[in-house]
Amino acid sequence: MPLLKEYTLTALKEDFQRLRLPGYRAKQVFHWIYKKGAREFTAMANLPDHLLQVLAENYELNAFVGAREYISRDGSRKYLLKLHDSNQVESVFIPAGERNTLCVSTQVGCKFSCGMCASGRKSFVRDLTIAEIVDQLLYVQQQTGTKITNIVFMGMGEPLENYENVIRAIEIINSHEGPGIAARRITISTAGYLPGLKKLMDFNRQVNLSLSLHATTDEQRTKLMPINKKYPLKEIIKACADYFHKTSRIVTLEYVLLKGFNDALIDAQRLSTIAHGLKAKVNLLPFNPFPELQYKPVDQKAMEQFESWLKSRKIPVTIRESRGIDIFAACGQLAAKISGVEL
Ligand code: SF4
Repeated sequence: MPLLKEYTLTALKEDFQRLRLPGYRAKQVFHWIYKKGAREFTAMANLPDHLLQVLAENYELNAFVGAREYISRDGSRKYLLKLHDSNQVESVFIPAGERNTLCVSTQVGCKFSCGMCASGRKSFVRDLTIAEIVDQLLYVQQQTGTKITNIVFMGMGEPLENYENVIRAIEIINSHEGPGIAARRITISTAGYLPGLKKLMDFNRQVNLSLSLHATTDEQRTKLMPINKKYPLKEIIKACADYFHKTSRIVTLEYVLLKGFNDALIDAQRLSTIAHGLKAKVNLLPFNPFPELQYKPVDQKAMEQFESWLKSRKIPVTIRESRGIDIFAACGQLAAKISGVEL
């Protein structure tokens, strides 16, 4: 049966015609799902019994059939979620003051094998559906009892490789009748999947774009991120520049510092040139190591040194703090520890 969270309001109204249900019923159902967080049909208190029966006979309500929660010492939480076909994905909830960010997955596994990322060690299985993306938000809101204010598509998978479902999910998440999270509070992060980046130009919403850059020459980047061989730096940077010109949204360059690999002054100089050309800001990320990966993190002093090299060239730069390391929820750690966990 189809999942109700697969539908935008317009699409649900259309589907309801097939069941001879009036359009206003779709609006009521939407309200129960997205404003009241209903996870049972029976919780939709003002809907008549016959409608609840039609809904139960024709739709699934929830995308997950099991879940496990891991709570970090720093307050972040990781959710391991079991899908109807028994595959598993992860979402990470990161509270920080007024801001409650959810890091969302978009695929089961990933095709791109980036050298600094555990998700890349898990073979690609399939794209997540619209409902499986949207329900990460609804499930975590219910579990934490807090409203998610920001969404980052930085979990498992390359969001722009699952373009259609990610975009439809954003349309629902962004809509007034849905969770109503502003496009400016939604960030799509890409490893540099050029076909998806080009399509994103035509998505008429001001979502933020973040490029996982991590290296500043093709030779170096291809070593770390094999996708660079197919879509080299020059083309990716041009696409980011086009996105900035089209949306006026400042692009963020993510840069994980790897000891002896991309942490030298020359790297900072090249990174400054790229950031300057794009009018981009830079996030410096500590590397969160785990056994299978060959790279090593830099120490705090080296991070600060690298930051100061960028600052001296007037590049807006922030050192990002790692959250959820103790529960393997930090950047690049998703899927590092899920194999073998039964839900
Ligand atoms: S960084 Fe993103 S694209 Fe690269 S392997 Fe990890 S999840 Fe896949």
